[in-house]
Amino acid sequence: MRAWIAAVLLLVLAGCGDEATETKSSQYVFGTLVEITVRGVPKDRADAAFVELAEGFRRMHVDWHAWKPGGELMRVNAACKTGETVEVSDFTLPLIRQAKTFHALSDGLFNAAVGEIVGAWGFHADEPPKGRTPPFDEIRALAAQHPSMDDVRIDGHRVTCSNPAVGLDFGGFAKGAAVDWALATLKARGIADAVVSAGGNVGTMGSHGDRPWRIGIRDPKAWGVIASVEAAGGESVYTSGNYERFREADGVRYSHIIDPRTGWPVEHILSTTVIAKSGALADAASTALTVAGVADWPRIAKRMGIDQVLMLDDAGHLYASPKMAARLAFPEGKRPEVIVRPVE
Ligand code: ADP
Ligand code: MG
Repeated sequence: MRAWIAAVLLLVLAGCGDEATETKSSQYVFGTLVEITVRGVPKDRADAAFVELAEGFRRMHVDWHAWKPGGELMRVNAACKTGETVEVSDFTLPLIRQAKTFHALSDGLFNAAVGEIVGAWGFHADEPPKGRTPPFDEIRALAAQHPSMDDVRIDGHRVTCSNPAVGLDFGGFAKGAAVDWALATLKARGIADAVVSAGGNVGTMGSHGDRPWRIGIRDPKAWGVIASVEAAGGESVYTSGNYERFREADGVRYSHIIDPRTGWPVEHILSTTVIAKSGALADAASTALTVAGVADWPRIAKRMGIDQVLMLDDAGHLYASPKMAARLAFPEGKRPEVIVRPVE
């Protein structure tokens, strides 16, 4: 969730058509650059909407932050340590609910309760630590307590954790939730055509003039894109990258995506891209499928209701579901082999 990921993970490929009614804004949330483009409304209306978005993002940055004190999620996490019950606002409660839903849908592979483990690996910092050996014993002890979203009970606005190893961390789907909220806010203001990209994770609404929005999927191994897709309004294109946010210790690279079954970082998957109708779902699914890996992603995709997946592993293999494979466009002169697997 760092600014530099934003610049490179996915690129919204700009069209060259009529730019007259296009207004852009760049903002930050969760340390990630959010780029908003709206079309077809006068600049003053677009700018008024951007102010509202900035306020919302600021609140998310405080209340949904997994390690900077002062926000609501941190208050919930403090209560989890003691088993105390806390009242949670309407701003944050829907995310806890969604996290429970995605946990169930993904057979536990998307588990926003692993925050303590993510923190122990050193990822609750703007810069992951370099060099030092991770505290393996502490990590093993936390993993042995199996923190899970099933340990988080919601009763009205009251939330109670029954496992002190639970630490809520929305890092795996908060960008999607933020982009969904931004698009809904623009829509409520009568804006029909918009694209919002958070760290390269893209949500779309309407169209880019008389054509769809064209979205590039970044190649993790080289500058440029592996492929691009045309996104019809309402589609979200999310990529979970295992290659940009990691730590290195004793010659080993540890990624920030944790397999909740072991407490250990995921290996061998460089990136997973998902296209879905909701940003939060696409974001959660791209993380869950990265955990599932090459062998298990079709099963988890099916459970999560996802039919468009593109996965790149560290052996250079590119896997896709049939529906994704059918819509990929490759850069001139490139036609990589795609291993197509049904979602089942
Ligand atoms: P990014 O946002 O960097 O592209 P992801 O969407 O995959 O990547 O989110 C990764 C983040 O999700 C981690 O930094 C951590 O905060 C959180 N996380 C790690 N493992 C899991 C998991 N198994 N389930 C849910 N969230 C996770
Ligand atoms: Mg994600």
